[in-house]
Order: sequence, then structure tokens, then C-alpha cells
Amino acid sequence: MMQDTASPPDDSTATASLLRQLAEELGAASVLTGDAIAGPYVEDWSRDRTGRCLAVLRPDSVQAVSRICQLCAKAGVGVIPQGGHTGLVGGAQRETADCVVVSTARLKAIRGIDPDNMTATVEAGVVLQNLQVALAGHGLEFPVSIGSQGSAQIGGLVSTNAGGVQVVRHGMTGAHVQGLEMVLADGRVISSISGLHKDNRGPDPLRIAIGGEGAFGIMTAACLRLTPSHGTTATAYVGCDGFDAALALFRHVRGRPMSA
Ligand SMILES: Cc1cc2nc3c(=O)[nH]c(=O)nc-3n(C[C@H](O)[C@H](O)[C@H](O)COP(=O)(O)OP(=O)(O)OC[C@H]3O[C@@H](n4cnc5c(N)ncnc54)[C@H](O)[C@@H]3O)c2cc1C
Repeated sequence: MMQDTASPPDDSTATASLLRQLAEELGAASVLTGDAIAGPYVEDWSRDRTGRCLAVLRPDSVQAVSRICQLCAKAGVGVIPQGGHTGLVGGAQRETADCVVVSTARLKAIRGIDPDNMTATVEAGVVLQNLQVALAGHGLEFPVSIGSQGSAQIGGLVSTNAGGVQVVRHGMTGAHVQGLEMVLADGRVISSISGLHKDNRGPDPLRIAIGGEGAFGIMTAACLRLTPSHGTTATAYVGCDGFDAALALFRHVRGRPMSA
């Protein structure tokens, strides 16, 4: 998320001043610089590429994210949201050290699970696998399952509109987003989380954030639609003698009650 509200800092003094103010307001432990910027913050899951940044910021509240955006906008410093850094395409990092990375790792609260409404409102840094564990106790699941679910976070899943192994049956992550809370580049906090299934007020500016790769703001929370979890699953390898037969099998399986 690049800022356009001010000129970029032209010397290291401006950068040092920004980082000092961030450390004062967020706490020194929330601002990683120098050798502390290492591991998953700069290397994505594949380790194919290494990013660089002025600092890694680890806010623990929406207010802290908002303040980061305000201060970085004023200083003309770009902000890159980062979740589990499993995206594999370099979206959560940058090659030049002229921006800050905002890690959502500490925004990990499950704000609420509503079994009657079949929704969960969670902060952006909740790891998918942790959400599934929490939902299992309610007989519910979030119908997105991907190989990176032990690291990928809800904010990353929504921002990449991730698919996963259940995508044909249930659709992509965006299909299960009921509402979003987001911090804009100037620090304003906007939210479309209403808890209502039927909410056709529009236009909804937050819809653009689904699959937006962090270009429109930093997502801080999402209200997600859930499905009942199935007690049992079965996997079968079926040999088909041609494409038409495979499609016929697909139609048959999709038509079964369990795929509703
Ligand atoms: C083993 C493995 C299997 C995978 N399988 C699949 C698969 O089946 N289907 C699939 O679609 N993908 C798959 N992926 C890719 C990846 O896991 C997904 O894209 C995942 O959604 C990324 O989540 P993340 O939290 O790691 O996001 P990151 O990699 O941290 O970020 C991804 C993008 O989202 C932005 N972003 C992150 N958090 C926020 C936020 N809070 N607000 C705004 N923007 C944000 C980042 O700036 C970046 O542009 C797989 C990856 C691995 C390593």
C-alpha cells in the first residue's frame, strides 16, 4: 500500500524520526529494525526471494494499525501488509528498503463465533488452522482448506481470495466473507461488519479488498460465513475412461446432498 500524501523521505534523518516515533507510540518491541528483520518477515515460504524494508511493525490493535498508517502517510513511507507470508508471489515484501512491513501476526483474536448465525468474526492475523480448531467445538467449519493453513492468516486468505482444495465445492475465500474491517492509507478505519446475512446496502467499498493484495488498505478483521462440519469424509480414486466420463462423475458427485 503506497502512500501518495507526501513526498518520500529524502534522508535517513526523516526515516529515523519516523521509526523513533513509531517505537515511542507502539512500544519498542513492536518495531523491528536491523538484524531483527529476519526469517519469515523477509523470506517467503518458498525462500526463492528475500525482501527488504525499513522496519517490521507488529501492531496488536486496530488503533495501532491506524496510527501506523497516519504516521507513514505523513512521512510518505509505503506500507506493506503481511500475513503468514505464504503467498509465493512476493506480494507481502519489497526488494527495496523504502517501506515498512506491517505484520498482522499479533492481531489474532477470535472476536466471536455465532453458531446461530453461522458466522465468526476474527482478526486478520488469525491462522486458518487455529480458526478451524476453534470452530470444531461448535460443529462448524470455515470451508477453505489449503496446504499452508498452518501459517496462512485470514487477512492473507481474503487479500489473495485463496481457493484451496474445496474450491470447486464451496467457492473461493471471498464467497464466505460477510463483512470486513479495514484501515485506509490515511489511517481511517472503515467496516462493513454488520452480522447480517442479508445486507444489500451498496456500493460496498470493502468488496474491492477481496483479492486486492493489500493495495486498498490493511484488513484488520473479517466476519466469515461458516458451514456445518461433516462428521466423516471419504476419499476415492476413480478411474475414468475419458473426459466426458470424468465430467459425468463430477456432476453426479456434486448433485449428492453432502455437496450442497
Ligand atoms: C504449501 C502451500 C499451499 C498453498 N495452497 C494454496 C491453494 O490451494 N490455493 C490458494 O489460493 N493459495 C495457496 N497457497 C498460497 C497462499 O497460501 C495463499 O495465497 C494464502 O492466502 C496467503 O496467506 P498469507 O497470510 O500467507 O498472506 P501473505 O503471503 O502474507 O500475503 C499475501 C498478500 O496479501 C496481502 N495481505 C496479507 N495480509 C493482509 C491484510 N491483513 N490486509 C491487506 N492485505 C494483506 C499481502 O500484502 C500480500 O499481497 C499455498 C501456499 C503454500 C505455501
